[in-house]
Amino acid sequence: MGLPIWFSLATPVLASEHPVELSASERAYLNAHPGVSLCVDPDWFPFEAIDKHGQHVGIAADLIAMVAANTGLQVRLHPTQTWEESLIASRAGDCLALSFLNQTPEREQWLIFTEPLLEDPNVLITREEHPFISDVSSLTGKTIALPYGTAMAEFFARDFPHIEIIYTDSESEALRLVSERKVDMTLRSLIMAAHTIKNEGWFNLKVSGQIPGYNNRLRMGVLKSEQTLRDILDKGIATLTPEQRQQIMGRHTAMNMVSQVVTDYTLVYALGGTLTAVLATSLFWMRRLNGLNRQLKILAQTDQLTGLPNRHALNDIFHKELSLAQRYRRPLAVIMLDLDHFKHINDEQGHLTGDKVLVDFSRLLRHNLREADSLCRWGGEEFMLLCPETDAGQAQELAERLLAAARGHAFPGTGRVTASAGISTATPADSVETLVQRADAALYQAKAEGRDRACLRVHDAAA
Ligand code: GH3
Ligand code: MG
Ligand code: MG
Repeated sequence: MGLPIWFSLATPVLASEHPVELSASERAYLNAHPGVSLCVDPDWFPFEAIDKHGQHVGIAADLIAMVAANTGLQVRLHPTQTWEESLIASRAGDCLALSFLNQTPEREQWLIFTEPLLEDPNVLITREEHPFISDVSSLTGKTIALPYGTAMAEFFARDFPHIEIIYTDSESEALRLVSERKVDMTLRSLIMAAHTIKNEGWFNLKVSGQIPGYNNRLRMGVLKSEQTLRDILDKGIATLTPEQRQQIMGRHTAMNMVSQVVTDYTLVYALGGTLTAVLATSLFWMRRLNGLNRQLKILAQTDQLTGLPNRHALNDIFHKELSLAQRYRRPLAVIMLDLDHFKHINDEQGHLTGDKVLVDFSRLLRHNLREADSLCRWGGEEFMLLCPETDAGQAQELAERLLAAARGHAFPGTGRVTASAGISTATPADSVETLVQRADAALYQAKAEGRDRACLRVHDAAA
């Protein structure tokens, strides 16, 4: 199953100034266990996953690395293919700890639990046309997809035995079944839902309701025999501040918006059971869910790092602007921008500096645009600009201005950074794809001619 992987504790933000005080028996435990084996969910990003290099990554990985750094604990990943396999390995005693899970009666048979590393609400997700769900127990003849072996599946089977559960192997499969009309709904965290909907482009889904009390309180679980380990972990978890949790969440999600959502739910819970039941059918409740769905849509269409719209978000505008330009014979230009030698910046200054350059560059672009222009992060270090009412000459001028702004800007940690631009303008025969292809070819030319320049491709030279 591959070599054991030791967590790297090199990330500077994770280092604590105040490591915890351990008792003599706890120190003895650490000496006796130089690598505590840990089973994780290999497919639950952004919460956690095992990446293609066999590393534990995501929110749980960062939180546990921080707990480990603060206690002096060393953790060794016990790799598995599925969450179910992790549970089996844990039951068999092959790993002392499980990374990030809810406490359930079934799991209490062999595990003891730490305090939560993180709390997070679950919501019901359906297709867009499905009515809002005020009371799950009143539903009849419905199906729900839930990943096998999860706490929510265990609770749901207990609380709503009249609803048929279709078990899946993964979280994303559960959402896919809803999106493809194979089941009516699924239940999952809003963070996970936004992440998957964005990655897969399943924009026909919405948040339709919630079940009071169905919160994820994500803890570490350790074998019953390892009480000392649990105590050490709890000491480490107690040192995590809300700011540190926020920072770690922010690294993997657009957490500013998510925390607003969580506040919303806290409000609903605070209203209490009876009142919630009354409100459930009211306009107020519908509005609240509409608000949640708007936020879900924003989350799914926003690039988390730069706050710019992502490729999905630009797609709609792109089709609309192109058909308007063609119908009224108006000019439309596309500018594709790509940072030069960005890989060097990452390699030499580190990924965090690279991220800061991306944020700064997107800010520069935003400040130098006109009202009618649409900008998005196309992917990686590429940005796409859509300019209605702009001919080739004007687009060239705008691109030169943007490149000059980058050239003249002092980027934090790196100083000078340049970019290249590829420009294309719409013809009556163009589709969005051919227009983008020409901008891409022009960008390639700008790179080949030495970078830090803008090139224009009016006709398809390759044709
Ligand atoms: P060129 O001038 O030809 O464009 O060279 P380049 O190094 O910029 O291009 P290349 O495509 O080889 O490398 C792009 C790099 O951008 C590789 C990838 O790791 C990095 N990258 C993509 N997304 C992000 C991100 O969100 N943050 C950081 N820090 N790096 C990213
Ligand atoms: Mg690139
Ligand atoms: Mg590049």
